[in-house]
Amino acid sequence: MAGIVVTGGGVAGLTTAVLLAGDGHHVTVLERDATVAPTPSEAWDVWERRGVNQFRLLHFFAPRFRIELERELPHVVKALEAAGALRFSPIAGAPVELTGGVRDGDDDFESVTGRRPVVEAVLSAVAEESVGVTIRRGVAVAGLVAGAQAVRGVPHVTGVRTSSGEEIPADLVVDATGRRSSLPDWLEAAGARRPPEELEDSGFVYYGRHFRSADGSTPAIIGPLAQAYGTVTTLTLPADNGTWGLGLITSAADKAMRELRHVDRWTATVQSLPLAAHWLDGDALEDRIVVMAKIEDRHRDFVVDGVPVATGVAAVADSWACTNPSLGRGASIGLLHCLALRDTLRARGLDDPASFSAAFAHATDSVVEPWYRTTLSFDRHRLAEIDAEIGGEPYRPESDEWDMFQSLGFAAGQDPDCLRAMLSTVGVLRTPAEALAAPGLADKVAALGGGWRHAPAFGPSRAELVSIATG
Ligand SMILES: Cc1cc2nc3c(=O)[nH]c(=O)nc-3n(C[C@H](O)[C@H](O)[C@H](O)COP(=O)(O)OP(=O)(O)OC[C@H]3O[C@@H](n4cnc5c(N)ncnc54)[C@H](O)[C@@H]3O)c2cc1C
Repeated sequence: MAGIVVTGGGVAGLTTAVLLAGDGHHVTVLERDATVAPTPSEAWDVWERRGVNQFRLLHFFAPRFRIELERELPHVVKALEAAGALRFSPIAGAPVELTGGVRDGDDDFESVTGRRPVVEAVLSAVAEESVGVTIRRGVAVAGLVAGAQAVRGVPHVTGVRTSSGEEIPADLVVDATGRRSSLPDWLEAAGARRPPEELEDSGFVYYGRHFRSADGSTPAIIGPLAQAYGTVTTLTLPADNGTWGLGLITSAADKAMRELRHVDRWTATVQSLPLAAHWLDGDALEDRIVVMAKIEDRHRDFVVDGVPVATGVAAVADSWACTNPSLGRGASIGLLHCLALRDTLRARGLDDPASFSAAFAHATDSVVEPWYRTTLSFDRHRLAEIDAEIGGEPYRPESDEWDMFQSLGFAAGQDPDCLRAMLSTVGVLRTPAEALAAPGLADKVAALGGGWRHAPAFGPSRAELVSIATG
């Protein structure tokens, strides 16, 4: 059994700790934010997390997050539900004409979801109670400690150094410090090659607000939780304890839409969107619109030409790769990554650090990377579509990938098989390529989905939208 240091105590860090301690490892989580985690019922009101920019922004936890937790850590799902998390099925609540009735396997589309502070408070409480997990809050990691090399010329990490100068030894350091992870700097300072990085501003801005109903219900769901209306996307995300998140996503280049940061302009704009307007019918939980911009798409390679940049260290979840989160996949992709790490550790152990690094890179490439790539592709197309619409042009990319995404969504409204294929991509169950590989599905999508370009918009035109948003 190994002594493992996890840097960062967010969703991925806490889950990694619980998973690895479950296999008997001794895990220490080092979290920079000093605040003691409150109880789930207090979390929304009292928990500030300076280390996580998106902490108070809209979150929806996709079915894959629930499925993997139920399989691997069922007590976490029980604790989430005890804290008021919502078990939500897009099939159970939808008209039979759309779903064709409930089928075997529809349970897969169920999620257990809640506001981010509530979900993280539950994860924190479970981690605190897990035998083998120690959480040290208020400890900022400042660098890595390297020891005798396992591969000639490749630094081998043997621990971390904190900002107060303390050195904490580890058989393996797992970096879960999220989007703003400084791991490349730490590696370079330890003498390693800097991991190659793809980095770009995703180009989206989020304008969100949370609400609560008086009776514990959540608004009726009409259509997908994320819906595009020309140059804005709405997010209508049911959450825990009769709360929900309501958001608008725009292109950062869309200057007119920057007025959405004002409560009155944001509210008027949502009121103009017929399928989302009723999500305003509740008590607002914030007195302002919570805005987040400069959301990066970023991906790092830690094994280059078959050689790890360093051994004794592994990056998981957002530290490894992150995207614009409009599809709500981040926590699920992160959990898949944490599980890949746990499985690699089970299979390889740490006796041969190079073999462990290679095996984890392979697992990352095969299990996690396809989700990163398809999410990135969707986002890039959507941003280009918005930019084209602002310019008054239809978006006609050379590749047929965007047509495939859109056709699947359009066919989902007409055929129960296509609906389930679409939900499986949304739920992080099957990539679009896997979903379309089902017998006969691609033909159905081609036959039913082609009309998406001419579908009527259930909302204002671009000119009307600009007029409403700018008052
Ligand atoms: C606007 C927005 C909306 C999102 N919505 C969704 C959604 O609806 N559904 C979904 O599944 N995902 C969503 N995500 C993504 C999701 O938040 C993350 O993918 C998920 O939380 C996993 O993050 P993580 O644990 O890797 O990093 P984080 O949650 O960012 O945690 C990193 C932790 O590391 C700590 N840390 C940083 N540096 C140090 C250091 N030097 N020393 C010690 N600790 C340190 C931080 O304080 C923090 O606690 C969203 C993201 C954004 C930006």
